[in-house]
Amino acid sequence: MKPDTKPNIERIAIYPGTFDPVTLGHVDVVQRGLKLFDRVVIGVAANPNKQPMFDLKTRLSMVCETFADEKRIQAVAFTGLLVDLARAQQAHAILRGLRAASDFEYEFQMATMNRRLDADIETMFVMAREDYTFVSSRFIREISSMGGDVSELVPEAVLPHLKCRGFLCDQNIRTPHKHVNVKDL
Ligand code: ADP
Repeated sequence: MKPDTKPNIERIAIYPGTFDPVTLGHVDVVQRGLKLFDRVVIGVAANPNKQPMFDLKTRLSMVCETFADEKRIQAVAFTGLLVDLARAQQAHAILRGLRAASDFEYEFQMATMNRRLDADIETMFVMAREDYTFVSSRFIREISSMGGDVSELVPEAVLPHLKCRGFLCDQNIRTPHKHVNVKDL
C-alpha cells in the first residue's frame, strides 16, 4: 500500500456571531464544530449597527474565558467582511447554528451571500441540543434585565458581567414589580 503522502492540512472553521453575551447554545454549537474540525476560531463581530449591550472587549473576554481550557478554540474580534476573516484565518468553513425555522431565512441569505463573495468557503450548520433551541442572547439580556435566573443558560464567565450591569441573576433577588394604577397614567 502506498504511504499517505497528502499534506496534513488542518481543518479550520470560523464561528462568527455577536455573542452579546455568549450562551450555552453557542457553547453547544462550538462543541459540535470541534467534532468536525481540528480548530474552531470564534469571530466576535463588532456589529455596531446591532447596538450590542456589551462592548466588544467584554464580549470577547467572556468568550475567551468560557473556552480558556480548550486549545483547539481561539477567539478573535473582527469588523468588516466575514469572508476576509475566514481567509485571514485560513478557514475552510463558516460554522453557524440553527435553532428553528425562523433562523433559516437570515442564515440562508448570509450563506448565499458569503458563497458569492468566496465560493471556496462552505457554510456548515449544526443544531444545538434540544434544551437550548429556545436560547438566544436577546432572550438572556431581556430575562436577566428583569431579574430572571439565566444561570443555567449561560457560561459561568458571563454571570459576573450580568451582575455588574445590575442585572440580578440570583433566583431569590428579583426586580420588584412596579404596579401602576390606571389613574396615575
Ligand atoms: P447573530 O448575531 O447572527 O444573531 P449570534 O451571536 O446570536 O448571531 O449567534 C451566532 C450563531 O449562533 C448564529 O448562527 C445563531 O443561529 C447561532 N446560535 C445562537 N444561539 C443558538 C442556539 N441556542 N442554538 C443553535 N444555534 C445558536
